[in-house]
Amino acid sequence: MKVAIIGGGISGLSSAFHVKRLAREKGQNVEVALFEEAATVGGKISTERRDGFVIERGPDSILKRKPEALELIKYLGLEADLVSNQTGQSYILKEDQLHPIPEGSVMGVPTRIRSLLDSELLSMDGKIRVLNEYFIPQLPDFEDMSVGEFFKARLGEEVVDHIISPLLSGIYAGDIYKLSLQIALPQFIAIEKQYGSLIKGLSQTASKKKTSQFATLTGGLQELVSTLEQALKKDGVAIYTGTCVEAVGKEEQGYSLELSTGETMTADHLIFCVPHRVTESLLPDADYLHREHAAPDTSVATIAMTFNQEDVQMEKEGTGFVVSRREPKAITASTWTHMKWAHAAPKGKAIIRCYVGKAGDDQIINQSDEALVQIALQDLKGVVAIKGQPDLTVVTRWPQAMPQYAVGHRQWLAAIRQRLALDYPNVYLAGASYDGVGIPDCIKQAKEAAEQIITTKET
Ligand code: FAD
Repeated sequence: MKVAIIGGGISGLSSAFHVKRLAREKGQNVEVALFEEAATVGGKISTERRDGFVIERGPDSILKRKPEALELIKYLGLEADLVSNQTGQSYILKEDQLHPIPEGSVMGVPTRIRSLLDSELLSMDGKIRVLNEYFIPQLPDFEDMSVGEFFKARLGEEVVDHIISPLLSGIYAGDIYKLSLQIALPQFIAIEKQYGSLIKGLSQTASKKKTSQFATLTGGLQELVSTLEQALKKDGVAIYTGTCVEAVGKEEQGYSLELSTGETMTADHLIFCVPHRVTESLLPDADYLHREHAAPDTSVATIAMTFNQEDVQMEKEGTGFVVSRREPKAITASTWTHMKWAHAAPKGKAIIRCYVGKAGDDQIINQSDEALVQIALQDLKGVVAIKGQPDLTVVTRWPQAMPQYAVGHRQWLAAIRQRLALDYPNVYLAGASYDGVGIPDCIKQAKEAAEQIITTKET
């Protein structure tokens, strides 16, 4: 049996890993080939190591609550390099001031009334509106709605603009009034259904302890990618980098792949681990893959800057901030990386990473590196006092990188998977465009695709 994987980001690499692992466990002989357009594998995961700094160009954190990434790290024997984030205060920038995220709040929903009342993020009317949530009847039964509409209905608009939207912008860089609640924050639907009130439900269920939620590897997340790549090669996986899959054909038996190298390869099973727009272009006859009116994937850029620690003075101690939806800033967030990850900077040095790009303002990434650095420095003024210019800057553009999960995404996905299974048997979809953008979500999807291939089919 031959399995071809299109795309060598974390979804593609972990698909290959789990196919091989399961095949070994079942005593099956499976050939796996992975095709990656870029010169190197890893996709959005890319770490720059320079002058003792560990600078992430893309993701920097693995959410520990979702087990699939930590499980993979264990399989790869990398536990010794796993580190947790330092749990400092993080802030929301509103009206040029840094406001602590109210203690005990979960995605903006307060579980401690005192800290909500003390917060200057919301006006008195805004706070009263939030507390009214307790008495607002459960919303009529619904399958999905936008995150913005849901929280506005329960807690009011202020909390959406000043807390929930900025907290989610780092993950989706999109319009919160278009983002599917069912895919982004399904737990809130369950809480509202069970308790009738989010405040009531979360006050009873949310953990009161402030613990570290994220992990990374001391060599940066690139370490995960390079270790995976080595493990796959050792396992006989054929990895073709610099090889774009340009067309996919359905054959009497299985599929053929036309490659940018001019070669044609065949396979019995295909796992698409590419952005959905690429999947669509490779299966042009499956016109049902196209989702009308879905917002295009948003482009973002990260701007990492290093300094001598004595040259940067944060207005408040912490690990960084996100920016309120109503704030006239180009940056959407800033991570004080040396405060979040102890290993990321040499002693006495600091790294500040800023993010730009959001729905409606993602052309900004086309500006020059120098311009983006100056935009970041300008937006930091007032909350971080910086002497001089950064020593080192690493600007990374991620065009069309953030999938926008429109309301009804789950139902749409289930429907296209059903159609695909009929028209294109043994073709699977995995990755950030589908069931979650986080690294653990991508690995979970990869594992599920592998399970469908290996557990249901014999060689
Ligand atoms: P990708 O990484 O996009 O990989 C797809 C691959 O397919 C690419 O390498 C591409 O070159 C290749 N490809 C495309 N077309 C073809 C073709 N025709 N033939 C062959 N190859 C092709 N997630 C977290 O969990 N934590 C974070 O802290 C975090 N921060 C982020 C910060 C930024 C700036 C960004 C952009 C994302 C962040 N994410 C984070 C999200 C996460 O990084 C991504 O969702 C995830 O890495 C996507 O993996 P993937 O394999 O599905 O897709």
